[in-house]
Amino acid sequence: MIPVTKPYLPSREKLDKYIDGIYERQWLTNNGPLVQELTKRLEEYLGVENLLLVSNGTLALQIAYRALGINEPVNGKPAEAITTPFTFVATSSSLKWEGIEPVFADIDPDTWCLAPKNIEAAITPQTRAIVPVHVFGNACEVEAIDEIASEHNLKVIYDAAHAFGVNYKSKSLLKWGDAATLSFHATKVFHTIEGGAIVFKRKEDLEKAKKLISFGISGPEMIQELGINAKFNEFQAAMGLCVLDEININMSKRRVVKEHYLEKLNRSFAFQTRNNNLTDNYAYAPILFDSNDQLTLIVDALNEHNIIPRRYFYPSLDSLKLLFCADYGLPTSNDIAERILCLPIYDNVPPRVLAQITNIILKKM
Ligand SMILES: *Cc1c(COP(=O)(O)O)cnc(C)c1O
Repeated sequence: MIPVTKPYLPSREKLDKYIDGIYERQWLTNNGPLVQELTKRLEEYLGVENLLLVSNGTLALQIAYRALGINEPVNGKPAEAITTPFTFVATSSSLKWEGIEPVFADIDPDTWCLAPKNIEAAITPQTRAIVPVHVFGNACEVEAIDEIASEHNLKVIYDAAHAFGVNYKSKSLLKWGDAATLSFHATKVFHTIEGGAIVFKRKEDLEKAKKLISFGISGPEMIQELGINAKFNEFQAAMGLCVLDEININMSKRRVVKEHYLEKLNRSFAFQTRNNNLTDNYAYAPILFDSNDQLTLIVDALNEHNIIPRRYFYPSLDSLKLLFCADYGLPTSNDIAERILCLPIYDNVPPRVLAQITNIILKKM
């Protein structure tokens, strides 16, 4: 079977060495030496400061909201955060879980990221924050979003789960916003089996979040605030250190895959319009068909050959009425969601399979 992606498995020998060390120290969690080492190495690799490892990407969002005080009600009513419906469900469900009302604004038809003019139109007296997503590692219009946020005194938390290692104008895209969150789930381009991180703009927010992820405990016998358990552990860090050593090889192999799709299919299909000043981490290979019918036809043809692409992101979250009591029917997000398909991409898709995939697609168009 050819799945949409496969988790990257690094050198087993190296992983075993790290695990031997964990057995010797018998220090398994609670900010152990490997967690500290991975924090430092990620800050160096990404070119950021104030990075906090947490147990997964969803808790990264939740902790970021709390550290920045977005969950606090406004005039006795739930705060609102303006966000995109074209994303993985966790972007919105994490808001709702924290008692914050997600308010959906529509995306740009070419970049598939939240459109600044739609953000502005969705602001109400309840709005505390903007939660955009750098979808498929494409940069949101960060300058415009920054301007809107400062004009209306809003916090910005980027769900940057897809933007690991992506640079915008020669520096990390993660530097934008009051915080940017990452997911290190097994299916992501950099992973720690499960895991995530928050990159804060300000050191004081990092310090606050460090307490939040460990029950609100600030010292021996000192509990000063409400916290939760979102700690990262030594085994996750061991995996992360090994995957990080090989990240550039992994990305360059994925690059070949994505470039094959672009080269063979870009005359017949639409791709995401990416910012010129942006690098790619080759995490996803999304392609836009003319219609839902065409997409279904092609998915069926690929499935017949045991090739399993995925519809990321479908459905558009504003249509999930049971979850988000929304009834927006945002036209662009719903339209893109109906027509988008993510093709298989991982470090070792065989060239023969790549040719097979593009041949099947071109034959069915
Ligand atoms: C993967 C992902 C998440 C969730 O991360 P987990 O580590 O699985 O909790 C959140 N947002 C987006 C956009 C994602 O792709």
